[in-house]
Amino acid sequence: MMDSVYADVVRRNPGEPEFHQAVHEVVETLAPVFEHRQDLLDAKMLERVCEPERQIIFRVPWQDDNGTVHVNRGFRVEFNSALGPYKGGLRFHPTVNLGIVKFLGFEQIFKNALTGVNIGGGKGGSDFDPKGRSDAEVMRFCQSFMTELYRHLGEHTDVPAGDIGVGGREVGYLFGQYRRITNRWEAGTITGKGLAWGGSNVRTEATGYGTVTFTAEMLKTAGEDLDGQQVVVSGSGNVALFAIEKAHQLGANVLTCSDSTGYVVDDKGIDLDLLSQIKLQERGRVATYAERRGGSARFVEGGSVWDVPCDIALPCATENELNEDAAKTLVGNGVKAVAEGANMPCTPEAVQVLRQAGVRFGPGKAANAGGVAASGLEMRQNAVRDSWSFTTAEGQLEEIMRSIHTICYETSARYGAPGDYVLGANIAGFERVADAMLAQGLI
Ligand code: NDP
Repeated sequence: MMDSVYADVVRRNPGEPEFHQAVHEVVETLAPVFEHRQDLLDAKMLERVCEPERQIIFRVPWQDDNGTVHVNRGFRVEFNSALGPYKGGLRFHPTVNLGIVKFLGFEQIFKNALTGVNIGGGKGGSDFDPKGRSDAEVMRFCQSFMTELYRHLGEHTDVPAGDIGVGGREVGYLFGQYRRITNRWEAGTITGKGLAWGGSNVRTEATGYGTVTFTAEMLKTAGEDLDGQQVVVSGSGNVALFAIEKAHQLGANVLTCSDSTGYVVDDKGIDLDLLSQIKLQERGRVATYAERRGGSARFVEGGSVWDVPCDIALPCATENELNEDAAKTLVGNGVKAVAEGANMPCTPEAVQVLRQAGVRFGPGKAANAGGVAASGLEMRQNAVRDSWSFTTAEGQLEEIMRSIHTICYETSARYGAPGDYVLGANIAGFERVADAMLAQGLI
């Protein structure tokens, strides 16, 4: 049955390899569920969960600073709303296409279910590239994008947030246009907002912080902690920066960061103030970090960050950035734990190498769920026009991350594979969504 469902997904969604990959990873772990859940089998729950409820594709015309007209493509895939309004970020990157958005939306269903917050799964974005664009160009693009998207959104319907290429600046422009068109200050319509206008403390930090909390929980099951561990992080965006910060707070030493041009290794440990200055204030590249840091850091153009020996590896950049060879190198260097800060950064072959070697492996839908969990907390504050302190929000986030770890671990143990977090996350997420769908009838 599982094979035929997967074959059907491939046949009906041609040319979408990332979506196929994400479905395959989930489907191959669910067989034990169907052995004792004939009701889910009869209801064709697997087939239903693989088919988005709605897919929206639209034209986004905009003008650059020279008056030249550009036409981009916008997407929103509203995948599953059994547990709550569709929830998931927007990605602006030239590689965005329908298959990428569907893979991300599919992952989001189970991730959101694991948080325990009532949110469904969705994802969106555009093949627009914000890199090198002026603020005015990014604003015009965001306004055009929202001029179509707004009709599909709402705090009870669909609530986007950021992802690659969409940070606080873009969320601001998107929210402004939504407010202008609808004449409603409906803060719960988008998350990742500025603190002064409906945002939540810790939302910016949440994905990176949560990934490290999840890693610490995995280490705890082996009687270890992060103190003194050598950590390799990829990426230098939102997730990477705050993963580095939290790892430092817990006593680890982070040696690396990267972007699409190469990586930096810093023998003294990454200086987060310098990196933040370059990435957040100047929107610069990691090569500049090595230039300004002095003797301890060097930039390796085009190299693989996974060549750097470490105890813990945190891929925080993009999908399929850690392949089988990289996993073998990590294992050869004695890595103890790998947690996916990014979505699907490890290829299936890499995951297999890590699991077979007994490396603790935290899949993205569990390890990076902190971002969407904090978005859920932002929506909760918006609903009652409240604003929590940093300490309160961080406490709630940590509680959710620990609970996700417990659910995944206990589910893996219940199915006879304690510590298999891939199995645990997929089954626990699927069961929660499938039971909600079953209770709500044939929808
Ligand atoms: P950002 O845009 O802030 O940063 C992305 C980072 O990854 C940059 O350093 C970028 O380098 C690098 N990168 C992006 N694409 C590529 C590529 N094709 N090859 C090499 N490097 C690349 O994004 P986020 O930090 O928000 O997102 C990172 C990952 O985390 C994504 O997989 C995202 O889906 C996932 N995620 C994000 C959440 C969030 O709250 N933001 C929540 C959950 C998951 P460069 O600047 O050179 O492009």
